[in-house]
Amino acid sequence: MAKEKEIKREEICYQITRDSYIYQAVERFIETTRRIDKSTSISKYTKFQYFLIKRDKDNKILSMKEYPSINSLLKDFKHKHDPEGAVMKAQCALCEVPLIKFYENYPNPVCRECDSKAVNLRGEEPKWNSWADEGENPVFINGKKCWRRYRFGGYITMFDPYDSRDEAEFYEKSGFIKKRKRREV
Ligand SMILES: [Zn+2]
Repeated sequence: MAKEKEIKREEICYQITRDSYIYQAVERFIETTRRIDKSTSISKYTKFQYFLIKRDKDNKILSMKEYPSINSLLKDFKHKHDPEGAVMKAQCALCEVPLIKFYENYPNPVCRECDSKAVNLRGEEPKWNSWADEGENPVFINGKKCWRRYRFGGYITMFDPYDSRDEAEFYEKSGFIKKRKRREV
């Protein structure tokens, strides 16, 4: 018999308190593991959900609205609750969509949607190896040069307005090296 187990994790991307209400942009990660039989194959199914949650000051949920993508959630959250961009400081360097806090540490970060259009020097989908934390560089999104930083089994893509020769030059010109020395990113 197949067994199913659901692992849920929630990450609050942004939270703002206003008029004694708490507004949260939440990313929910659901992983369903299906064990086909006792000894052999396990199939994994990963799904993301995105919510704008309104709570009262006792943390009770008052309303919950689901969005089809992280981009649409953060766009709406910024528009409704942080129009000055005082809290949500990161945005995609190419399409200006708001990004989660994590991206604030990187120069000219690019959102996943823009990144999905990236190609390598030959115009093909860039290759990368999550085990070795390495992959192709530079990549191009609509002809714009970007560098990918491969780390922790994933990567982040950054737009290079300086047309640098290599990653090191880009990091130097964007001031990323100095920033890293202050706080290891
Ligand atoms: Zn973008």
